Amino acid sequence: MQFNRCGKSGLMLPAISLGLWHNFGHVDKPETNRSIMHAAFDAGITHFDLANNYGPPPGSAEENFGRILKQDFQSYRDEMIISTKAGYLMWPGPYGDFGSRKYLLGSLDQSLKRMGLDYVDIFYHHRPDPDTPLEETMMALVQAVRTGKSLYAGISNYTASQTKAAAKILNEFGTPCLIHQPKYSMLVREPEEALLDTLENKGIGCIAFSPLAQGLLTSKYQHSIPKDSRAAKSHGFLQKQAITPDLLKKIGSLHSLATGRNQSLAQMALAWVLKDPRVTSVLVGVSSVKQLSDNLLALQNTEFDTDELNKINEILNRS
Ligand code: NDP
Repeated sequence: MQFNRCGKSGLMLPAISLGLWHNFGHVDKPETNRSIMHAAFDAGITHFDLANNYGPPPGSAEENFGRILKQDFQSYRDEMIISTKAGYLMWPGPYGDFGSRKYLLGSLDQSLKRMGLDYVDIFYHHRPDPDTPLEETMMALVQAVRTGKSLYAGISNYTASQTKAAAKILNEFGTPCLIHQPKYSMLVREPEEALLDTLENKGIGCIAFSPLAQGLLTSKYQHSIPKDSRAAKSHGFLQKQAITPDLLKKIGSLHSLATGRNQSLAQMALAWVLKDPRVTSVLVGVSSVKQLSDNLLALQNTEFDTDELNKINEILNRS
């Protein structure tokens, strides 16, 4: 595994990290969860990313992860980086959503209980809250760190200007923002507009989520929607309507380009995100060990020449 420094912090993260948004809920197979975690850790993936609401049902990914940790990974806790988040709807009423101090600190306690942990390594605010003062939300992250329930603070889905404001508050209180988690892939390039520069300037790491655009940047949807795919599952977040003929044409062209680089499309898509030194890690989800093994090979070639980059841009910009 290649390890990259997370911004200007002391923490190194693996270039590929594993996310448990899908595939680790009570609706999924426990033996598959367990084998994915083993294969990941054995390959040097030391970082596992969760959130309070991952499942379904919400909370079940943390429960399943906690069970596997207890069974198999207890003696490896100091070799692992475990993150969780709060920010989306988790429980009924006004205290289980968005960014109040009440929600964040209550949710962190619940997450620790579900995972059977004394602390997480990174606690994130999952999304900006338009109504709660930013100071309140950031001070909840500071308190999570000061009380030892989290070692570092992170933010996700914040814009560049929101990130600057959040980082300023966190710095003032001696808990620098470790990391930002934005959606970033060949199909979603907003972070290139201002966010990546902001992160570099502020010394904040970047972990890109959905680098395969939930599986669109693979060859799996080329001919049909496979029965066991995310787009086919009623609880999957990938909508069938997202798979349009125009998109499939682009995916086909990207696939040919990847073949020319001796990579699968998934490998090329991950390599493409990792080519930017401002990106610390890509956060993949997998539904099998086979997918994980395929994705790990991306690290064998993360270099692109100008001609390849131009061709990729040309394909993505086709109307
Ligand atoms: P990806 O873009 O990596 O999509 C993962 C899906 O792609 C898999 O479930 C699988 O789909 C398919 N896939 C992966 N590898 C392959 C392969 N080699 N060949 C074919 N298909 C493949 O990431 P996710 O969307 O799952 O997000 C990753 C993580 O990012 C999450 O688990 C979570 O930790 C984080 N995240 C954070 C968010 C935030 O707001 N902060 C929001 C969303 C995600 P299939 O199931 O069809 O086999």
